[in-house]
Amino acid sequence: MILDGKAVSEKRLELLKEEIEESGLYPRLATVIVGEDPASQMYVRMKHRACERVGIGSIGIELPADASTEQVLEAVARLNNDPDINGILVQLPLPGGVDTTRVIDAVAPEKDVDGFHPCSLGRLFSGTPVFAPCTPQGIMTILDEYRIPIRGKRAVVVGRSIDVGRPMAALLLNADATVTICHSKTENLEDEMRRADILVSAIGKAKFVGPEMVKEGATVIDVGINQDEQGKLCGDVDFDAVKDRAGAITPVPGGVGPMTIATLMENTFRAAKLRTCGNNTV
Ligand code: NDP
Repeated sequence: MILDGKAVSEKRLELLKEEIEESGLYPRLATVIVGEDPASQMYVRMKHRACERVGIGSIGIELPADASTEQVLEAVARLNNDPDINGILVQLPLPGGVDTTRVIDAVAPEKDVDGFHPCSLGRLFSGTPVFAPCTPQGIMTILDEYRIPIRGKRAVVVGRSIDVGRPMAALLLNADATVTICHSKTENLEDEMRRADILVSAIGKAKFVGPEMVKEGATVIDVGINQDEQGKLCGDVDFDAVKDRAGAITPVPGGVGPMTIATLMENTFRAAKLRTCGNNTV
């Protein structure tokens, strides 16, 4: 079974548009981009377009590549104090001269729609999430849409970054999976991977995952965005070689990627609802 993230994201965006319309709220997202990295600019444009589509207002703050940490912190502080802004997204990676940790820590937790603030991650790991990072949360949505069983299953997450691997493991654990996190120092990586009922690869290495690393019938989630030898977009998983062994698999493109932006929209609406209701029940 191909897990069609594009289709799921379209469905979720349409639903969200209706929900926002019915709520009478006008959520607003602010993006902050530093420098002119073309990939970052493209992602930010896509986020603004998605906002427009679902009825979320958006503003973009652009700072020059040589902006100091203080300048970025000032921009974030202004957005923190702006009552019209519900969500703040600082596009990563930031240029080398900017202290990323200080910037992430400066975002007001109630506006942290990217879910990278230590408060958000702490809540997630304590089992009481408010905002989970968008890529792993989007993966949970795909698993849910396709009714992939998680409870009691063995999940293996390869990669331990703050944006994908770690929060992915926490989300799967919160959903009652038995979770193993692997990384570049893991011994017997293939053995660990082969035990997975749900295998999530977030490594960033083209076609790294072959059929010998996948249990027959496993659900394989490919987070990687890489280029193959021909310069074509591909994931961490050797899709053609693995697809017949896997029970379900996300393609690249059209799998995990589209869900990231859809989830950002959902988190922004959630931030607006939380502001209105003042508690974590939405
Ligand atoms: P990072 O580079 O931050 O993390 C990569 C992780 O993979 C690290 O934990 C690293 O281990 C581990 N790793 C690297 N090589 C190996 C190996 N040979 N064996 C086992 N583990 C290994 O990347 P991200 O988590 O940010 O992103 C991962 C991939 O996902 C990238 O391709 C990125 O482009 C993509 N991505 C896609 C998104 C989407 O929306 N689809 C969103 C975010 C990322 P160690 O910690 O030991 O170094």
